[in-house]
Amino acid sequence: MPLNVIMLGPPGAGKGTQAGRLAREYGVPKISTGDSLREEVTRGTELGRLAKATMDAGHLVPDDVMVALVRDRLLRPDTASGFVLDGFPRTVPQAMELDTLIQERNHGGLLALQVIVPLDELFRRLYIRRICGLCGSDAAPGTLDDAVCSKCGGEFIHRTDDNEDVVRERLRVFEAQTEPLVAYYANSSPTSTFFKINGNQPLDTVTAQIRAAVEQTQRAAGQGADGTQRVALGRQDVTS
Ligand code: ADP
Repeated sequence: MPLNVIMLGPPGAGKGTQAGRLAREYGVPKISTGDSLREEVTRGTELGRLAKATMDAGHLVPDDVMVALVRDRLLRPDTASGFVLDGFPRTVPQAMELDTLIQERNHGGLLALQVIVPLDELFRRLYIRRICGLCGSDAAPGTLDDAVCSKCGGEFIHRTDDNEDVVRERLRVFEAQTEPLVAYYANSSPTSTFFKINGNQPLDTVTAQIRAAVEQTQRAAGQGADGTQRVALGRQDVTS
């Protein structure tokens, strides 16, 4: 049974960190659309040039561009046993396209994890967040300004879209366009299981709760009364 996971949550909720941990633990690729776009910007491709202005304004890159990017990525052989998506889908049309792509790709169910963090904590995290200017890795929280990246030796920088005005705009866009996804996954997506995760806890506690959600979903998926695998449908809270 493939493990297909998406992480929903505002900028700064910790989706990228938790997506990376989950992907490593279960041996599936982490696919971050934000990282992919930043790579395109660094490489100076046409997509990178198109995306940069949009990202720096805190707006969303058009759905058709993002769907094409994710479709290409999901067609690679390493997604046959699943994936963890970070940053996609971000709109209801993207979510509907993802349902279709999964049917074409590996026919698994989808586990949607909504990571919840209060607004003041999001601002605090984004204000101190640093990434490597060379490879794009996130610096561990609390990394000193003069530290260098342990993966490639690059210097840490502030993301150009992490300044206060752009963060406000990204949060506004999140509320308007991405929050409706919660209703989509909680109520209407044909093949998904939905969990809420309290992201305002120590990193390892959040990881443990995500792992519990994955294991519960996998158990439910294996319990078809007729002996066949079935996809669990439902809504669960793991917020304590
Ligand atoms: P964060 O989750 O911190 O907002 P990301 O690194 O996921 O940041 O994304 C950065 C930017 O990339 C977004 O603000 C947006 O402009 C663009 N982007 C990433 N994923 C998508 C998507 N699925 N649809 C549209 N735009 C996207």
